[in-house]
Amino acid sequence: MGRALLVIDMLNDFVDEKGSLRVPDTEAVLPRVVQEVADARARGEAVVYVCDAHQPDDPEFSRMGWPPHAVRGTWGARVVEALEPRPLDPVVEKTTYSGFHGSDLDRVLREREARTVRLVGCVTNICVLYTAADAAMRGYEVEVVRDAVAGLDPGDHAFALRQMERVLGARLVDRQAP
Ligand code: ZN
Repeated sequence: MGRALLVIDMLNDFVDEKGSLRVPDTEAVLPRVVQEVADARARGEAVVYVCDAHQPDDPEFSRMGWPPHAVRGTWGARVVEALEPRPLDPVVEKTTYSGFHGSDLDRVLREREARTVRLVGCVTNICVLYTAADAAMRGYEVEVVRDAVAGLDPGDHAFALRQMERVLGARLVDRQAP
C-alpha cells in the first residue's frame, strides 16, 4: 500500500525570521524536510502539503491565544520557497491543529491509495501531534521523521514524540538513518 509524505505547516509565518509565529527549530529541520520531499518524489510517493489557512479574525487567535498567523492569501500563509509545491501536489488547507479536521485530507489520501502517512514539519506537539492522532484513529500507519519535525519547546517536543510512539503507535524514524 502506498505512502504519502505530509509536509505540515512549513509556511513563512512559522519558518521565516520575519514570520509572525516563528518556530526557531524549523531552521534546523528545513534541509531535512527538503531532502524528505526529494526522496518521496524519487520513490514516486505523493507529497501533500498540509497548511494553516486562517481568516483574519479566526477564533483560534483569541481562543488559543496565538498571534495572528497564516492568514489565507497573505505571504505568511505561503509554503516557504525552498519547499514550494509543484503544480500537481495537493495543498490541503486547515484551520486548526489536525490536518484532517474540516479538510479534504482524508479524500486526498484515499484517492492516492495511501495507507501510510509520513510526517515532517512543525509544530511537533501541536499540528504534527494532532494530525498524527487523527491519522492513527482513521487507521493510517503513521511514521514521524524525528529529526524533520520542529517543536517550540524541547520538553514539549520530546513529550509529543513519546506520545506518538507509545500511545498512537507511530513509528519514529530518523532522516539520517533511512
Ligand atoms: Zn493556526
